[in-house]
Amino acid sequence: MSAGLVQAAYIVAALFFILSLAGLSKQESARAGNYYGIAGMTIALIATIFGPESQGFAWIIIAMAIGGAIGIYYAKKVEMTEMPELVAILHSFVGLAAVLVGFNSYLDAPVAATHAEHVIHLVEVFLGVFIGAVTFTGSIVAFGKLRGVISSSPLNLPHKHKMNLAAVVVSTLLMLYFVNADGSMFALIVMTLIAFAFGYHLVASIGGADMPVVVSMLNSYSGWAAAAAGFMLANDLLIVTGALVGSSGAILSYIMCKAMNRSFISVIAGGFGQEISISSNVDHGEHRETSAEEVAELLKNSRSVIITPGYGMAVAQAQYPVYEITETLRAKGVNVRFGIHPVAGRLPGHMNVLLAEAKVPYDIVLEMDEINDDFNETDTVLVIGANDTVNPAAQEDPNSPIAGMPVLEVWNSKNVIVFKRSMNTGYAGVQNPLFFKDNTQMLFGDAKESVEAIFKAL
Ligand code: NDP
Repeated sequence: MSAGLVQAAYIVAALFFILSLAGLSKQESARAGNYYGIAGMTIALIATIFGPESQGFAWIIIAMAIGGAIGIYYAKKVEMTEMPELVAILHSFVGLAAVLVGFNSYLDAPVAATHAEHVIHLVEVFLGVFIGAVTFTGSIVAFGKLRGVISSSPLNLPHKHKMNLAAVVVSTLLMLYFVNADGSMFALIVMTLIAFAFGYHLVASIGGADMPVVVSMLNSYSGWAAAAAGFMLANDLLIVTGALVGSSGAILSYIMCKAMNRSFISVIAGGFGQEISISSNVDHGEHRETSAEEVAELLKNSRSVIITPGYGMAVAQAQYPVYEITETLRAKGVNVRFGIHPVAGRLPGHMNVLLAEAKVPYDIVLEMDEINDDFNETDTVLVIGANDTVNPAAQEDPNSPIAGMPVLEVWNSKNVIVFKRSMNTGYAGVQNPLFFKDNTQMLFGDAKESVEAIFKAL
């Protein structure tokens, strides 16, 4: 393949990637968006592998076969609830790849035509390794927190902000030294170690409820790490793709921050400016329990019902029986709708994906902002496996870790039924006063079993 043909293929691939992003922004076109992405990546791989600069064809094929086989195995095996963990660990690979490309590009530097070009290459190497290293360890901590092997509560080391600042200042000084000394393996290694620690600390300092922003932020970092690798390898498509991922991840992080009423800067700076106290010892009073039969009776007598699903629905895989009761109630003339919080579940759009999988019609699935004012006129709300996203403490308790986060105001409806297995807290580790309100009843048990029992009773 000639260099010209490779460039042409790169442009076509870049267009496919843009179409892919556009497609992924809506449920109806998400499948097509995925296909565009696959097409773009296939073109990109063929053009790169058969391009004039590629060598060691057999090695590439062996590596791709091994990597592809591992990827297919895990992608098939992964549960929908484990998806964010998979995404987080994949981000760490991008970070590690950028670090390795950086070291390789430093050791085997391309011939520079001018001194300026040489300096630019050194800066690219340094920045690429820095971003890659932060992404690598940050993503591993995010993976650990999402999987539950690392505590989801924020790590609060003394002087944590000063330590973060010191890491950035020392790394900047090392970069100046690196460039002035015309490259220094010592400076590169020291900075890599600092960046590894910085990435770890940055994400470890962020509390549970802010994890959605962290995941999308790491998504963005992985894009910039890929773009940096593109500069080092002089690969235009990698620069474009990295920039697309980097900027779309940044926009997503911004949207998530807005949805959670958080300052973007404070979250990415490791919870900077958030002073939190967990008031878990407050006595909220007694809660009331109910049964599937009673809930079925209540639903039959309701004219309007809103279902607010959360992470527990995903764990229990309750979306299929939820679809069944939705259809049964709609057939009886009940107005059933869904209220989706932007950070419900464990990844952006998690609930929308599950409900679409169970064939729930899109037009009755509404965003939080579209439905929040309607709870007043709603007879019954079914809170299925949601907790933090329906927690009134976000509005009522200024000291709560989730204070200020917009929530689904389910308590404004006549009756609230909460489906969960115990009185345990949600992901943010905060007690939920909703469970103790006069119009709330708890339906304990696995969400799928509870919904199935209601379906039978209906
Ligand atoms: P939560 O994680 O707050 O709560 C889920 C509830 O589901 C738990 O209280 C649990 O209670 C219950 N549950 C678990 N398994 C079952 C089951 N099998 N049957 C019935 N209930 C079950 O859920 P939300 O969706 O309301 O909130 C999401 C949280 O996750 C937010 O804090 C958000 O910030 C965070 N997050 C979101 C991400 C995103 O991108 N959307 C990414 C990372 C974090 P019990 O154990 O008693 O059953």
